[in-house]
Amino acid sequence: MSEKHFKPEELTAIGYQPRRRDWMDPHVEFRRGTFNYSANPKSMEYLGLPFVRKWQPTEDDWQLPSNWKEIILEGLRERIHKFRSLRIFMDICVRCGACADKCHFYIGSGDPKNMPVLRAELLRSVYRKDFTTAGKILGKMAGGRELTVPVLKEWFYYFYQCTECRRCSVFCPYGIDTAEITIIGRELLNLVGIGIDWITTPAANCFRTGNHLGIQPHGFKDSVDFAADDLEDITGIKVNPSVNRKGAEVLFVVPSADYFGDPHYFGFLGYLALFHEIGLDYTFSAFASEGGNFGLFHSHEMMKRLNAKIYAEAKRLGVKYIIGGECGHMWRVLHQYMDTMNGPADFLEVPKSPVTGTVFENARSTKMVHIAEFTADLIKNRKLKLAPERNDSYKVTFHDSCNPARAMGLLEEPRYILKSVCNHFYEMPENTIREQTFCCGSGSGLGTDENLEMRLRGGFPRANAVKYVQQNHGVNLLVCICAIDKATLPPLMDFWAPGVAVAGLHELVGNALMMKGEKEREADFRGAPLPGKEEKVHV
Ligand code: SF4
Ligand code: SF4
Repeated sequence: MSEKHFKPEELTAIGYQPRRRDWMDPHVEFRRGTFNYSANPKSMEYLGLPFVRKWQPTEDDWQLPSNWKEIILEGLRERIHKFRSLRIFMDICVRCGACADKCHFYIGSGDPKNMPVLRAELLRSVYRKDFTTAGKILGKMAGGRELTVPVLKEWFYYFYQCTECRRCSVFCPYGIDTAEITIIGRELLNLVGIGIDWITTPAANCFRTGNHLGIQPHGFKDSVDFAADDLEDITGIKVNPSVNRKGAEVLFVVPSADYFGDPHYFGFLGYLALFHEIGLDYTFSAFASEGGNFGLFHSHEMMKRLNAKIYAEAKRLGVKYIIGGECGHMWRVLHQYMDTMNGPADFLEVPKSPVTGTVFENARSTKMVHIAEFTADLIKNRKLKLAPERNDSYKVTFHDSCNPARAMGLLEEPRYILKSVCNHFYEMPENTIREQTFCCGSGSGLGTDENLEMRLRGGFPRANAVKYVQQNHGVNLLVCICAIDKATLPPLMDFWAPGVAVAGLHELVGNALMMKGEKEREADFRGAPLPGKEEKVHV
């Protein structure tokens, strides 16, 4: 693929008017920067996926199996019977258009097929043609469309330009959830071996080593020990986190980026500091060293297979309940699917804070509590000594990650914590936060570099809101509670709102936490001098 470089006069001459063309005519241009590479055959083989082969979206021939159409239509038939919601979503859209301008990909790209209503219509048109009487008889007149190779290519392009964020569903008067339609669309594509590598390879790694990054158990243990050493350098306190320890009270599960990525790692230090300070009896698991679940972006079956290890490890280690770290889609799976798919976890107890005695009734069925709920409860019950002024060099805003916000309603706890651990907190405009939050533009397995243009376009509405608080309040730190956000928001900020860094919530908790017996701290968790200590720290 050659990369075309545009001259400034060419850029200013770009027309933003969508080309006039009947939406029913499938047309996709696989332009560099706007699509994802295909799945690596090795990873497909590892996962036992069908029709393993080498192909790329830019090639004319996708080497589909000869009976690809029958496979997909049969797959659609099965799913329409299995998922009542899918059938309803296929039938009840009145095309009112309330969702049309609510998708960040539509706002950022101006492509009409990125309107949620039209994205869903890509699948719905095939459903109409083959599964409704009107469509069978009247075809195009009834909104029906033949399933052809160009239609399939269009599915691939647009179902991988949806981050399954569910913002559109908030505005739909019927509650149609286009994310679920995308999930089914991707499942159908995977039936004929069409998937993307940034989902398939992390999923395969997870099976092989327990986490998406493919870090082996001893590497995981090393990372945890390394973090303990770093924390000692900063605080003077030696913490002693354990891995695979049987009989601990709590299993703590985090997304793997927390112990390997930047800025995730600083939040990981925050967890270690917090748990040490309250004397929590917890362990990590090397086998369940990943809370994230890229199976959600592949198929229901893959999600279930990947999720099973969390309860299995909780049982093997004999813990009482589970705490989960900062992650987005991890929590969607845990909160909405885990109990049904791999529960009931009757061998566990309803989570009860050993420090405050609070029983987390909301976790009665899953037996898994979110770290933000756990920490907010500690603060509310005045169990932590905090020095928010240690975070005074940061002017903070909070990005509600789509899944914790819309899939589990975790809106107040992070804000309550933030207001307790820092002195300068500013909200972005209200139509861009809480349930209406804008996606980072890179979730659901789209956080790769090959589709960076699409990510920057999709992330534009979020970045625009950050820019607003940057210009009006001098905000320089965007806090979130999602591992994908922490990985993908930094380049988004660099492009649209330079000067704004990204951090996890527990990084600021760790900075503010006054630990018993700690040395006089001079730097925060990322090595920047604490306010007033600038001369002592050589960065
Ligand atoms: S808001 Fe709902 S009913 Fe209206 S067009 Fe969108 S999906 Fe259809
Ligand atoms: S789920 Fe999110 S990304 Fe997908 S169509 Fe709706 S708003 Fe767009």
